[in-house]
Amino acid sequence: MPALPAQTDTALTALTLVGMAAALGGWIGGAALVETGGLIVVYLAGGVPATVRALGALWRERVLDIDLLMVIAAIAAAAVGAPMEGAVLLTLFSLSNTLENRAMGRARRAVEALMALRPDTALRRDGDSVHEVVAADLRPGDIVVLRPGARVPVDGEIVTGEGAIDEATITGESMPVRKGPGAAVHEATVNLNGVLDMRVARAIGQSTVARMIRLVTEAQAARAPSERFSAWFGQRYTVAVLGGAILAFGVFLWLGRSPDEAMYRAATLLVAASPCAIVISVPAAILSALSAAARGGVLFKGGGAIEALAAVRAFAFDKTGTLTTGQAEVTQMQAIALPEADFLARLAGIEAHSEHPIAEAVRREVVRRGVTPVPVANVTAFPSEGIVGEDGDAPIWAGNPRMARRMAADTDLPELSRLNEAAQTMVFLGQGRRILGAVAVADRPRASAQPGLTALRDGGVRHIAMMTGDRRPVADRIGRELGFSQDEIHADLLAADKVSLVAGMAGERGGVAFVGDGVNDAAALARADVGIAMGAAGSEVALQAADVALLSEDLTRLAEAHRLARRTAAIIRQNLVFAIGAMVILVLGAAFFELPMPVAVIGHEGGTLLVVLNGLRLLGDPIRGDRRRDKGTPRFKGDAAPAA
Ligand code: ADP
Ligand code: MG
Repeated sequence: MPALPAQTDTALTALTLVGMAAALGGWIGGAALVETGGLIVVYLAGGVPATVRALGALWRERVLDIDLLMVIAAIAAAAVGAPMEGAVLLTLFSLSNTLENRAMGRARRAVEALMALRPDTALRRDGDSVHEVVAADLRPGDIVVLRPGARVPVDGEIVTGEGAIDEATITGESMPVRKGPGAAVHEATVNLNGVLDMRVARAIGQSTVARMIRLVTEAQAARAPSERFSAWFGQRYTVAVLGGAILAFGVFLWLGRSPDEAMYRAATLLVAASPCAIVISVPAAILSALSAAARGGVLFKGGGAIEALAAVRAFAFDKTGTLTTGQAEVTQMQAIALPEADFLARLAGIEAHSEHPIAEAVRREVVRRGVTPVPVANVTAFPSEGIVGEDGDAPIWAGNPRMARRMAADTDLPELSRLNEAAQTMVFLGQGRRILGAVAVADRPRASAQPGLTALRDGGVRHIAMMTGDRRPVADRIGRELGFSQDEIHADLLAADKVSLVAGMAGERGGVAFVGDGVNDAAALARADVGIAMGAAGSEVALQAADVALLSEDLTRLAEAHRLARRTAAIIRQNLVFAIGAMVILVLGAAFFELPMPVAVIGHEGGTLLVVLNGLRLLGDPIRGDRRRDKGTPRFKGDAAPAA
C-alpha cells in the first residue's frame, strides 16, 4: 500500500499536522488568511499523496481502496462548505497510515537486524602471517583469528583457544556460552574474551541463520487468513460504501433536504461507514507480534503461523535433538574381532556424512581419543534407521536394529548383551551381514524441557506426546523423566508413523503442533497444523517444512511463543469487535440521527488509531526465556563435519 519511502511519508504527515494546527489556530483567532493557508497545506500534504495512491491502485490493480473513500469524503466536505471537517479527516487519516507503516517497518527490521551485525572484514591466517581480508572472500577451510571482542564473520569451528561467546544476536539469550576446540561458532555472534583460531565452515551468506532468515522473510510475504479476509472484505465493502453514500444522497434529496445538506449527510455516512479500523486491526497486531517474537529468537513464517499456533491445543515432540540435547555422548563401546581404534575410525568415517546428533557424538568421541576416521564414500542416509556407505566389497553401515535387519545382520550377539542392558540408544556398525561392534549413546533431556512442558500445560495445553525413532527402553526412560505417561510415549517410529500419529491427534484434539529437528521429522512438521523446527540446531529440511523456527534451544520459549500467539489472537478479536461495533454505531447515527460530521470523523479515525495502538501493545511483550537453562547453546547442523 505505501508507495512513498518511509521518511517522505513521515515528513508529509508532519506537514499535515502543522497545517492542521495553523488552520485551527487561525479559526480560533479569527485570522481567516492563516486558517485558509493551513487548510490548503492539509489538503495538499494529506490529500494529494492519498489521491495518487488511490488512483494508482485503481489504475494498476483495478482495486477501489479505502484511501479513495477518504479522499472523496474530504472533497465532498469541502464542497459543501465544511473544509475543516475534511481537513481533520485527512490529518487523522495520514497519521494512522504513518503509524501503520512504521509498525510494518519495525517488524521487518527486527528480522533484518539479525543479519546486519556481521563484520565486513576478518583476520585470516596465511601460513605464519595474519592478513585483514574482506569477509566475503573467506572460503571454507580458511583459518580466521578471533581477538577478544571480535564479531564472528562466518559460521565455523574453533580450532584452538577457548572463550566465552555471546550469542544473544541469534538466540536472544543474554548468557554467554563457553566454547573450546571442536565447538561451532556462528556468524554475527561475539567472542567476548578468548583468543581463538576458527576454521571457516561456510562462505558468507550461506550460514544456517542467513538461510533461515531468507526463508522467513520470503514466507512473511504470505498473508494470514484473517488478513486475507479483511483485504477481501475491504475491497467489497469499499464498493458498497461508495454505492450506499450515493444512494443516501438520493434518499436525502427525496426526503426534501437541500442538495448541500444531502451532500453533507452522504459524506458523513461515507466517513462513518469506511472500514479503515476493520482492515487495519489484523495487520497491526500480527506485525507487532512477529516483531516481538523475532526479538526473542522465535521466527514465524508469516501471520498465518501465529494464528494457527494460537489455535493449537496439543503438542507432539520428537525426542532426539528436540527434548534431549544435541550433545549426546558415547558412553560404552564394544568392538567385535577388531581393535577399538579401528572400529571407531570406521564408525566415524561413515558418521562424518550424517547430520544426526548421534553422528555428532561419535565425531566428538573420535576427537577426544585422537583417532583418524577412515574415509567412506557413496553414503546414503536412511532416516530413523541409520546410514550406509561403500567400503571395499560389502557395504559398511551404522544404525539401529531396523537397519541391521535391512542388512540381514544378526544383532543378538553375546558380546553386545552388556550394551543392550543399558537403556541407551545403541548404534551398530556392520559390514554386510557382519556386525563389527556397537556403541551406546546417552542423550540427556534438555534442562529447559521439563519447565517448557510444564509451562505449556499451565498455558492450557492438555495433550502432549513424545514421538521417537529410538527404541522403547530409551524412550520410556527419557519420557518418564520428563513426566510423560505411558500412553503419551511412542517409540520405534519411522517418519511415516510420526505423520499418522500427528494426523490422529489432529482428528481428536483440534489444532496440533509438532516440534522436531531431524530429517525424519519433516513430513510430520508439514502434516501438523503448526510445524516447529529447532531452528539453528535442526536440519535444513526440517526448517523448510516448518512454520516456526526456534533459534534458541530453550524450550520455555516455545510456551512463551504459544502465549504470545494466543494473546495476539485475543487482541485481533478485541480489535474486530471494537471496530465493527464502532462502525455500526456511527453508521446508524449518520443515517438516522443527524450525526455531525466532526463526530463521525473523530469516531472513525480515532477508532482506527485505537485499533493500531492496541495492536502495537504486542511490541512491548517480548518472548523471554528462562535465564538459567540451556544457556543458548545452539548446535548448528553441519558442526565439525570433516569432509571424509
Ligand atoms: P528421533 O525420532 O527421536 O529424533 P531418529 O528417528 O532421528 O530419533 O533416530 C532414530 C534412531 O535411528 C536412532 O536412535 C538411531 O538408532 C538410528 N539412527 C538414525 N540416524 C542415525 C545415524 N546417522 N547413525 C546411527 N544411527 C542412526
Ligand atoms: Mg530428532
